[in-house]
Amino acid sequence: MDSSLEQQLLELYQFLESPPTENLCGSCRICCTASGLTRQNVTRLELAVLGEAGEDFARYAARERGADGDYVFPVCPNLGPEGCRVYTIRPFSCRVFGHYRAGGTRLPSECVFVGKDREFPAADYYRVVPGALRLRELSRDFQLRTVPQRGTSNGGESESGVGLNLEDPWDRALEQVGRGELPDLPAESEGESLFAAYVRALVAGERGQHPEALRFYTRVVDACPERHDLMTFAGFHAFQLGLLDQAEGFWLRSLRLFSGNPLTFSFLGYLFSHRQEWQMAADFFGAAFELEPGQPVHRQRRDEALSKVAQA
Ligand code: SF4
Ligand code: SF4
Repeated sequence: MDSSLEQQLLELYQFLESPPTENLCGSCRICCTASGLTRQNVTRLELAVLGEAGEDFARYAARERGADGDYVFPVCPNLGPEGCRVYTIRPFSCRVFGHYRAGGTRLPSECVFVGKDREFPAADYYRVVPGALRLRELSRDFQLRTVPQRGTSNGGESESGVGLNLEDPWDRALEQVGRGELPDLPAESEGESLFAAYVRALVAGERGQHPEALRFYTRVVDACPERHDLMTFAGFHAFQLGLLDQAEGFWLRSLRLFSGNPLTFSFLGYLFSHRQEWQMAADFFGAAFELEPGQPVHRQRRDEALSKVAQA
């Protein structure tokens, strides 16, 4: 648990405990059961902080059901005879439960907080619930470190609590880019989140502002060393600026992490064509074609490069 985002989450948890409060809620534990609380959001960052205890908890929080239709975990797997076994690192939703309640939802009738909780319109969640925005920011940055699987978006984590919040300028911008629009972004400020840098990189890329796109992608990939997909984009903008060695560096790093992206191979093909190193160009276009045989331009480029080799 040495990463700074995980450390920052622990600091947030500490802030929520401060000044230290007793667990006033008593012992009914109904909110630690799948039927007592039918929905629970938890982010991947919080699961990472839970470590091994997070594995079953994720399934519990998702209210996973077995083939018989019953909950796989009817009771939170972290609940022991003495209460919560992960109390000091329990997720955010466990911490705010009972104190805050979205309009239209109900606390269990046995809950000691009934009548003492603060009801808020669901849309005001991030404004009302202390720490919610900070959790969101940390969790989004954590999510950014993970390479998205095919068919999922870069920004969405709705299944685990960090979905788009259209009141947030960065989420709104991301959504606009997804719709093919070019949003106006807030002026750059000190200490912006990684997610803000990611959105700035995307928007600058869409606008063809290569120096900005390269600067922001570089910041993101430096912090997210697994994001081979973003390295490919960083390389693209370096290439556009004529920084061929830098582009090559990004693309080779990307390929070392993942050798299944035809775009990276094809970019390297262009780079070596530019250097007139035709055999290398042919090899990279050939690799792109193998990965994407339905894309005739790879074959065409490979054959052009091979004919240059033959002429040499
Ligand atoms: S993690 Fe702890 S507080 Fe949260 S639901 Fe489980 S037992 Fe209850
Ligand atoms: S349902 Fe209410 S009283 Fe019961 S454990 Fe949860 S917060 Fe406490």
